[in-house]
Parts: sequence; structure tokens; C-alpha cells
Amino acid sequence: MPDYQAILEEIHAKVVAERPEGRVASYIPGLAKIHPDLFGMHLLTAEGEEFSVGDSDETFSIQSITKVLLISMVLSTQGRKIWSRVGVEPSGDPFNSLVQLEHERGIPRNPFINSGALVVCDFLMSLYDDPLSEFLNFVRRISGVPDISFDRFVAKSERKVAYRNLAMLNFMKDFGNIHNDIIAVIDFYCAVCSIRMSCGELARTFALFMNHGKLGNGEQILSVRRAKRINALMLTCGFYDESGEFAFRVGLPGKSGVGGGIAAVNPGKYSVAVWSPPLNEKGNSAAGCLALELLTDITGTSIF
Ligand code: GLN
Repeated sequence: MPDYQAILEEIHAKVVAERPEGRVASYIPGLAKIHPDLFGMHLLTAEGEEFSVGDSDETFSIQSITKVLLISMVLSTQGRKIWSRVGVEPSGDPFNSLVQLEHERGIPRNPFINSGALVVCDFLMSLYDDPLSEFLNFVRRISGVPDISFDRFVAKSERKVAYRNLAMLNFMKDFGNIHNDIIAVIDFYCAVCSIRMSCGELARTFALFMNHGKLGNGEQILSVRRAKRINALMLTCGFYDESGEFAFRVGLPGKSGVGGGIAAVNPGKYSVAVWSPPLNEKGNSAAGCLALELLTDITGTSIF
């Protein structure tokens, strides 16, 4: 096995030296004040060994990484009915784009752009009386952390300026692809995006996708086939209009969030999470992408 601890330290030093250019997300006021120099990384192997560097125990807002957990919850319960309401193709557009929705009659391209995640939220809302508690319990079960919660301040601050996401909801409601009250859907969406986790917690949560749908205790949460599909979606859609570039540079299924986090997996080998708040122009953590590129280059462990 590679000496992952030494490799993470090497990556940390290189990222600090290189300081790739980026800006902390400011369109959600609650995220704007985060210190740009924070950096953490945590890697968990399939054998259960854990390695970390930097601020890997600090919690941060996972934002769009939550979209992977939302679709996982749907697939772990109701399954395939969701695919008539959201597609599985990369969008080639930014995460908050509205342009394809009109052409495609309110059916979002995939569950990892905002419109797609909003439909997945709506789907969960139709299944449960208290979808937020159900979802938090699902995340607690997968992560193994009983007190995982969301940041009310960040949720509230996103909710206040959620004009674009509300526009998508209105638009999709008009096409008949949102079944619940749009205000209830946006409240649920902003809450689940503001869930806080550390790199360690995130890497342990994503072990589900490293382990082909199985938890550490052997419980099969997702079938092998569904876990495969979620990994395929992460590879093709996890970084919006930078998904091709991420596959090209890093070569792992993964998902980013505007809080600066990225979670990625090499199925059967490791699950890894990295966090650095400044984002590149596509809304993905600039140093996070570099760190993961270094990881797969140094260890020769992309999926390709
Ligand atoms: N909550 C964020 C939004 O809707 C999530 C976006 C992201 O992390 N890319 O804008």
C-alpha cells in the first residue's frame, strides 16, 4: 500500500506552495466569511486505515455534495421512478443554469445540477411527512456520526437570496415536474445544502460508494448496480461544466460543493475528502482539484 500519510503531507506542501487561484463563494452571504487559507484532506482505505492533513477535523458546509446523498436516499428506498423526472446526462452548463430547462420541458439533465437536486428534494418531500428529519437520519446512518446537522445561519442566508433556485422551481412547477409547494421545497433544499461535515466525516460517508453500496457494518444500503450508477453520475456530472476536465486531470468519481469541499472515491480502494474554500471559475475548489490530481498522479490510482 502507498504511504498515504507521507503522500498527503507532500500534497499539502505542494498546494500551499502553489496556491492555485480562486475565490471564496460570496453569493451565499453565510459562506463569504470563511478563511481562504483553510485546507484539509482525509483519506480512508478499503482496509479501514485513515490518514489526514491540515484542517481535516474542521466542519464546513457541504453544499452540493449533499446532492449525492439525496439521490442515494431516493435510490435506497423508491428507486427508479425518479428517472422519469430527472436525466443522467452531463449538462455542460453551470450548476445554477436555467437554459436547458425550457428546451427539455422542465426535466433537468441530471441530479447534480441545482434543478435536478430540487426535483430530487421534491420527490423526497412526497414520500415523507418530515423529509428533513428523515434525510438527516439517513446521513447520520451512512456517516456513522449521530449528531450530523445543518447550519441554520447558512441555510437562512442562502434562502434569503435563492432567487435563481426559486426561478427553477417555478419553471419546473409549470411543467408539472414539482409536486409540492415551492416554498417548502426551497426551505428543504437550503437546509440540506448547509449540512456541516469535516473531511474525515465526509470521507467516511463516501465509503458507501467506495464499498459498492455497503456500509462498514456490512449492511447493503444501495444495490451494487445502484452504487455503480451513482459513481457513474459523479464521474460524468459531479463537477458541472468541469466534469470532463476533472476526469481528465483526476480520474475519480467525485462531487464538489461551493463550500469548497470535494469528496471522491476509487471503488474498492479508497474514499477521500478535501476542503479548501476558494473556488475556481466553475465553482469547484481550486486547491481541492489540484490536491486530488496530485493524489492520483503520485499514487497512480485513478480509475483509468
Ligand atoms: N446551495 C448551493 C446553490 O444552490 C449549492 C451549489 C453548489 O454547491 N454548487 O447554489
